[in-house]
Amino acid sequence: MTELTRKVLEAHLVNSNLEQVSYQEVIQFFHQDEELKKHAPDRYAEMDPRTGVYILYSKARRHRPHDYPVLQEKSTPTQTVCPICAGKLTSVWDIAELSEGYTFINENLFPGIFPFTTEGWPLISSAAPECCRQRMPALGTHFLQWHSTLHDKDINNMQVSDIFINLERLAVLEKFLLTQASPMPVSHTCDGIEYHGYVGVVKNYGREVGGSLRHGHMQILHVNIQPKRLQQDMALLTCCGKGFSAILQERNTPELTIRAYGHGTMLFLTPFCMKRPLEGIICCQDTAKNYLHQLTSGELKLLAQALHDATRGIITMQAQQGREVAYNLVFHVGPIGGLYIEVLPYNQEVGGYESLGIYFSHLTPDESTLSYRGVMENG
Ligand SMILES: [Zn+2]
Repeated sequence: MTELTRKVLEAHLVNSNLEQVSYQEVIQFFHQDEELKKHAPDRYAEMDPRTGVYILYSKARRHRPHDYPVLQEKSTPTQTVCPICAGKLTSVWDIAELSEGYTFINENLFPGIFPFTTEGWPLISSAAPECCRQRMPALGTHFLQWHSTLHDKDINNMQVSDIFINLERLAVLEKFLLTQASPMPVSHTCDGIEYHGYVGVVKNYGREVGGSLRHGHMQILHVNIQPKRLQQDMALLTCCGKGFSAILQERNTPELTIRAYGHGTMLFLTPFCMKRPLEGIICCQDTAKNYLHQLTSGELKLLAQALHDATRGIITMQAQQGREVAYNLVFHVGPIGGLYIEVLPYNQEVGGYESLGIYFSHLTPDESTLSYRGVMENG
């Protein structure tokens, strides 16, 4: 396996610290990048008027490189070269040293969203009735954070101190996107700070759940469209006076706590309303914390440990079950009454009833919690 060295990384380096550039400079750079523009998605989003879910179209994403085996090759390992290790990178905007290797942030070569114009980005929410009537312009930026320059390092097998550095840089990116002056309109104000647009952070691990490259990474979308789940989080807060994190901490019994970190400062829980086996939620006890960049260093360290334990547990259990390893992490950040992270292992297929809004789960929340505890105690 070729190794991505600092020297190769530096050839793509525009900037080593995101705190030293402006968002406007980043957008101008995007506009001058012919390769990136070639892979730009369609300019508009459609919304399903029944559910308020948005659909972004991109023909270019069909041509993304994949290093997971395709279905008919499932039994034999793929021989394709990892494009990241081979140094096929877009411009790098942030880099930080780890105990071994580096973590870095670059543009997604196949962006799901693109900053087509430099001004006049509208803010779009399915709560607004006009969204049903017309196509919506989709605008924003799409970044990737690579956990390590070392191909096999991921959250499940990295040192917790290195995951912490990853989270620190992710928090810097989150703050940069949301608080820097940009064409993105202000979506809300909190503690006197104006926040622009919406940020969606996800991790897709495994081919079955949308992962294309094995080289461990996180995706970060900054978008003018309010993701439906965030809108639902905010609606819950408005309706109940508390967010999902607070409801979970109130309603869940102690039997559903997989592990508490730092005397309960950070929690890894099975939600009482678990939809799928091994589904978990990582949340902060302090529900006034809505963003990663609002967490203290101590809280980020606990979050690093929780993410490590969760992903390690999933991978161990899926391997024991003979399943292909696959999970998603979905970060809910915004004015939602407490940030939380959904831990979503792909352990049960989606059937027809699930599409109708009724879920059947093979495992109860109690059993799921015990499964995690068992594997974490033994590992
Ligand atoms: Zn690689």
